[in-house]
Amino acid sequence: MAATVLNGKLIAERVRAEAAAGAARFRERHGRKPGLHVVLAGDDPASAVYVRNKEKAAAEAGFAGDVHRLAASVGERQLLDVVGELNRRDDVDGILVQLPLPGGIAPGKVLAAIDPAKDVDGFHAANVGALWSGQPGLVPCTPRGCIRLLREGNVKIDGARAVVVGRSNIVGKPAAALLLAENATVTLAHSRTRDLPAVCREADILVAAVGRARMIRGDWVKPGAAVIDVGMNRDDEGKLCGDVDFVSASDVAGVITKVPGGVGLMTVAMLLDNTLIAARHRLGDPA
Ligand code: NAP
Repeated sequence: MAATVLNGKLIAERVRAEAAAGAARFRERHGRKPGLHVVLAGDDPASAVYVRNKEKAAAEAGFAGDVHRLAASVGERQLLDVVGELNRRDDVDGILVQLPLPGGIAPGKVLAAIDPAKDVDGFHAANVGALWSGQPGLVPCTPRGCIRLLREGNVKIDGARAVVVGRSNIVGKPAAALLLAENATVTLAHSRTRDLPAVCREADILVAAVGRARMIRGDWVKPGAAVIDVGMNRDDEGKLCGDVDFVSASDVAGVITKVPGGVGLMTVAMLLDNTLIAARHRLGDPA
């Protein structure tokens, strides 16, 4: 195996420790903890696990907050009322509405109702626009985690050829925007991209956010490239795996992430960092 594996567990622990120190400083200065509030509607089992992880990480790092649990039968109006109340509360710095929402509720309308200054998922159009136009704003957690992993691996982004496979609003597009902001030359590939293996082989930095188990193989990877695997899939045997075939890709790549143990752990850590950014910004606290 040639590649250096970027240890997501270790790096996520570092980010969480930084967030805990930041939360303690915030409390000293402002007399309260930064507050992260999660809205969980319905009974999707995967969402319940994600929310539990977020709740636990926030409490451990010294953040305040609640999980607002709503029945699967909740109506759009009621959900919007909960978001409206959290928007108004002074002690609430970050609001996250866990997706997917129960059937019949349009996520777009609910996400648009969140105060952009408290939108710690960075999905509000105001924050998306800020990201693409180089303005300050809140940036989605998973792509921020990808960039942090690259930095920790001493990967040079400036001037690099970056290929992001997957163009979702939550991962692919913001990952491309962040790489572009760091002066990479970015290609955003998707299901209609012609000759995807050849496009991937051009990448000094390859970010896979597709949702297809082990689709990207070693012969798609440029020798020495940095490979960041965002995918979280179950293979035919029910085993958790990424979008990258780790065994063949790690023979070719220079640095690589693993699934599990890579990007997934970074997402929750960056959520704490985003909440701290939102809290400081709301109170005019420079650091
Ligand atoms: P998504 O919304 O389903 O988007 C998938 C993207 O992949 C789409 O842009 C799609 O192209 C593209 N795609 C699908 N099949 C393809 C193919 N054969 N060749 C090239 N492109 C293809 O998924 P997502 O929400 O971005 O998530 C992607 C993966 O990341 C999933 O495994 C998800 O579980 C994981 N994820 C992980 C984290 C984490 O914390 N680690 C967070 C979020 C997501 P089109 O646009 O053309 O359809």
